[in-house]
Amino acid sequence: MKAKPNILHLPVYQPGKAIEEVKRELGLDEVIKLASNENPFGSSPKAIEAIKAELSEISIYPDGGSVELTSAVAKFHDVGTDQVIFGAGSDEVILMIARAFFVQGDETIMATHTFPQYKHNAEIEGAVCIEVPLKEGTHDLSAMLAAVTERTKVIWICNPNNPTGTMNTHDEIANFLAAVPASVLVVLDEAYCEYNTSGQYPDTFALLKQYKNAITLRTFSKIYGLASLRIGYGIGHPEVIRSINQVREPFNTTRFAQAAALAAIQDQAFIESCREANTVGITYLQAEFARLDLKSFPAHGNFIMVDTQRPAELVFNGLLRRGIIIRGGHKLDFPTSIRVTVGSREQNEKFITALEQVLAETAVQT
Ligand SMILES: *Cc1c(COP(=O)(O)O)cnc(C)c1O
Repeated sequence: MKAKPNILHLPVYQPGKAIEEVKRELGLDEVIKLASNENPFGSSPKAIEAIKAELSEISIYPDGGSVELTSAVAKFHDVGTDQVIFGAGSDEVILMIARAFFVQGDETIMATHTFPQYKHNAEIEGAVCIEVPLKEGTHDLSAMLAAVTERTKVIWICNPNNPTGTMNTHDEIANFLAAVPASVLVVLDEAYCEYNTSGQYPDTFALLKQYKNAITLRTFSKIYGLASLRIGYGIGHPEVIRSINQVREPFNTTRFAQAAALAAIQDQAFIESCREANTVGITYLQAEFARLDLKSFPAHGNFIMVDTQRPAELVFNGLLRRGIIIRGGHKLDFPTSIRVTVGSREQNEKFITALEQVLAETAVQT
């Protein structure tokens, strides 16, 4: 038995520490997880009600075409129903794009420090990944453009970028799309777009009207607070969506995910309140980082990457002992930085108190 050569070097995904595990190991009563950019306010209560109403149907397959949810999402974004595709999280939409578009030897372009699933799935399909370093934490679109060759199939842009939190503006993305050959698919992963209050965030749906070769990815896992249900979607040109649909598994999203997402997208008051609380949280955290003399990247999602000037693993462990789980930069190739999710006000304050203690006991790395 031999697996295909493309995957031999791939590590098995290492999940971050779960809350229960940390409680048990360290004997803590309270553990705060600010590691996976989940919504600290949960989800719309209407989503939970919608799941309960579906429970009696648990033995019946879901609607494989997600018909009701497709119409609601299409209406919400003012696009055609043939422009929408759902996945088990936008992670699965990334997988399906790779599966639908790559043959061995194709080239694909992504940033060096970005969401790992683009490279992971491209490599599984045998594509050659051309990685372009970030510039001050942001996608360097002119360098990415310069990397395009005749073999380029797909370019991945994570906006705001995970893990840095930085963003590319509407004008930058519009100019980029104008310059990219029409034969190259540009994936705009906008998992955090609902949090953006910059006023300069791309009007992606206007761009999609103009460019056939672009697709935006959205998710119900972040601001909608439905991460455990695994549902996300892509919106693009009907031909692109059709290709992705051709490789989709028949029942890739569950009945419960579909019902919850349908209720959640109709409760925009909840989204609004989460966005506002997040903006307040970012302002608070950035002010605290400035007080502690720490530099952070501009934050356009619901997380901040901050340079602690100490080995990230030590900071990670120090915070963990105090019951706070964050994402350590040692796992992300940012050796002295950490990525922290913006929590509730109380969580943010507890994080800062703990961070201050950890910084005091850990020597500055020069
Ligand atoms: C969280 C995240 C996703 C996907 O999340 P799903 O739960 O699979 O929908 C996609 N892209 C980025 C950049 C993310 O941070």
